[in-house]
This record gives sequence, C-alpha cells and structure tokens, in this order.
Amino acid sequence: MEKFNIAIDGPASSGKSTVAKILAKDYGFIYTDTGAMYRSVTYLALKHGVAFDDEAGLVALIEKYPITFSQTPDGQLVFCDGEDVTAAVRSTEVTNNVSEVSAHGKVREELVYQQQKIAADGGVVMDGRDIGTAVLPDARVKIFLVASVKERAERRYKENLEKGIPTDLETLKEEIQQRDFLDSNRDVSPLKQAEDAVRIDTTGMSIPDVVQAIKDVVAEKISQG
Ligand code: C5P
Repeated sequence: MEKFNIAIDGPASSGKSTVAKILAKDYGFIYTDTGAMYRSVTYLALKHGVAFDDEAGLVALIEKYPITFSQTPDGQLVFCDGEDVTAAVRSTEVTNNVSEVSAHGKVREELVYQQQKIAADGGVVMDGRDIGTAVLPDARVKIFLVASVKERAERRYKENLEKGIPTDLETLKEEIQQRDFLDSNRDVSPLKQAEDAVRIDTTGMSIPDVVQAIKDVVAEKISQG
C-alpha cells in the first residue's frame, strides 16, 4: 500500500491506541504513541526530582534521556535512555500529572519535532491530541475519536481489572474528566478536532467496528487521490 500518514486524535481513553495499533498492523505502517512520549517526560521528572512547572528542567530531561520506541512481537516498547519504561509510564502518578507537563510550549516543541521526523517518510499511524492540528497538519487521513465519559471510564476499569489493578469507577471518571479539561484548555495546541478530521463517536461500538469505520474513511480518501 502507498505510504501516507493517519492522524488519530481524541480525549483520554477514547480507544485511539487500540485501533491505531490494529490499523498500523493491517496496513504495514508504523504506530507512534505520542502520549507515551509526554508520559515519559513526566516519568523522568518524577525520577529525577524535576518540578512539573520547571519548563527548562523538563526540556533538559528530554535532551539528556532520549525517548525511543521499539517494535516487538509483544507490542511496542518505550525506552528512556535505554531503560524500558513501557509499564512505568502507565502508573497513576504519571497519568495524573502528565497534563501539567504537556502544557509547556517548549516541551511540546521538542516532542513535536521528534514526531514530525518519525512521520517524515509517511506510513505512520500516529495518535495523540494535536496530531491533526499541529504535528501532521497535512496528514492524508485525520480521525477524531470520541466516546462518552461513562463508557471510557468503564473500558479503563475493565482493562485495569484484567491487569489485576484494583480501581474505583467513580475515581476513573473524575480523572478522565480532569485530564480532558486540562488538555482541552491549555494555551498551546489544545485538544481540538481539526477542521478536516472525520469525527467518530465510538460509544457502543466494538473495536472491529471502529477499525472498519476508519478503514472506510481511508478507502474514500485514497479513492479521491
Ligand atoms: O494518549 P495518552 O492518554 O497516553 O496521553 C497522555 C497525555 O499526554 C494526555 O493527557 C496529554 O496531556 C498529553 N498528550 C498531548 N499531546 C499528544 C499526546 C498526548 O498533550 N499528542
């Protein structure tokens, strides 16, 4: 298949990474989880005692501890300076502080530059908050995934149960709403649907149905040339 880029944006836990991974596999494209990059900076800040409001300190961390991805048969791994942080960046402490870290313009500048380099040759499925608006404004296909807060919290709750992590559904709902609020109201590249993105409300939809809906959009865009 011809190499083009697919941008998938949307609020927290809207299923972006699940469908992005399937699409990348089916098309033979590279999947890039930009949330994992902001999470990695947050993890590094916690590890090295850098305050979340210290923009210059956070940028120095990105320069000192390069963030890289590695594709394995078990999925994508994230590394900071060679350390496998795939699981660590999903901790509640990272999740609840990542929006403060990702609001800094200079942190975004560094990571957006790296994301644009990854996608420069095409053939990338990239998910995040600002991919269609800021990172890849020329992406051939742009998708904006949404789902009700209730359903997003329930999906996360089930995932946690399967991983053996005890959580409270109400707490999850509050955390999701708080993260959406911060991500949508920051000054730099807030979470926003790109004008030319196709919005898909996945509430009540199965994963294969969402994947198919996106493939239909892709087929239509490709046929338009
Ligand atoms: O996608 P995920 O939920 O892992 O993203 C974690 C956080 O990283 C988001 O809540 C947001 O603050 C930040 N993020 C961002 N821009 C992106 C991807 C993620 O600001 N492109």
